[in-house]
Amino acid sequence: MKDLLSLTEEQLKNLLADMGEKPYAARQLMSWLKKGVPFDDMTNLSKGLREKLRRDHTEGYAKINEKRVSTDGTEKYLLAISGGGLVECVLMRYHHGDTLCVSTQVGCRMGCVFCASGKHGLVRSLSAGEMRSEFIAVNKDGNVSNVVLMGSGEPLDNYDNAVSFIRALNVQHDIGMRHISLSTCGIVPGILKLADEGMQITLCISLHSAIDEKRKKVMPVAAAYSVRQILDAANIYFKKTGRRIIIEYTLIKDFNDGSEDILTLKDALHGLNCHINVIPLNRASGGYMPPAAKQAHAFAEKLVQAGKSATVRRSLGSDIEGACGQLKLKREEP
Ligand code: SAH
Repeated sequence: MKDLLSLTEEQLKNLLADMGEKPYAARQLMSWLKKGVPFDDMTNLSKGLREKLRRDHTEGYAKINEKRVSTDGTEKYLLAISGGGLVECVLMRYHHGDTLCVSTQVGCRMGCVFCASGKHGLVRSLSAGEMRSEFIAVNKDGNVSNVVLMGSGEPLDNYDNAVSFIRALNVQHDIGMRHISLSTCGIVPGILKLADEGMQITLCISLHSAIDEKRKKVMPVAAAYSVRQILDAANIYFKKTGRRIIIEYTLIKDFNDGSEDILTLKDALHGLNCHINVIPLNRASGGYMPPAAKQAHAFAEKLVQAGKSATVRRSLGSDIEGACGQLKLKREEP
């Protein structure tokens, strides 16, 4: 069975043309799919066509397995996706519109020590349609204006599907490229390839330290690509797209929060048009501890004093296991 949500407009049109249907039937089908409507309720498509579609295809929708709503309005969803497996996605309410954080893989093989998503390794990559199904399941009221590929999984380890998903968001769901962000742990060939896609999405780099030896302790991928290689690739991305780079810096107590860390970070980022998002580690793990409440702000302030653009990312949904694979992990390891 193939999922219809993975098909581009073009592919959907061809599929229906092969079934002897007129182009308007493809447009009708597309608009139902966007709304998450099941075959049975696609009332303006003939019964015959619906039967034909059902033979080899599913719609590709996700089912909501669990939904939690935080006191701050953040909604966290555990979704059963069409090809099997559970993924999380998070809807965050900001004054500029709703932002949806989608997962790109079931599990993750990057193995960052502090991250819950990769704790059991990679199960599989999601298809573009399965990523779309997260958006469709959660965006029932149509308020989502921003999408970040920042849930579980490494998007550049699932490159083609991630890019197809981004194009579908843009073309089929009217999300502006500038309202889409992709976060990577720093896979250099993927960053360079992305720079040539002609998409003006925001690139976020999970740096967490500008010191290679330190980075290697918490991120196995650091053994493959140095900080210099990653930031050079980010600079190429900026030059080709004009989009300012976001540097993500998960702050870990007594690990990457010292004055040497600030100094190396400042030097490493010299000449790169970027903003630094300081993210307090959200739970103790593997001997790594979250910083004290005020420390993240003090760290960001020091970066600002050093001439950098830096803020602390507002933490949302901490009362509902809002962060990074925690709800799924809780379900699997109660
Ligand atoms: N694989 C991609 C996207 C998913 S992780 C990436 O590495 O960027 C999204 C962000 O959450 C990354 O910056 C990641 O390092 C961060 N993160 C993961 N676990 C965290 C935790 N326990 N506390 C704070 N940030 C965390």
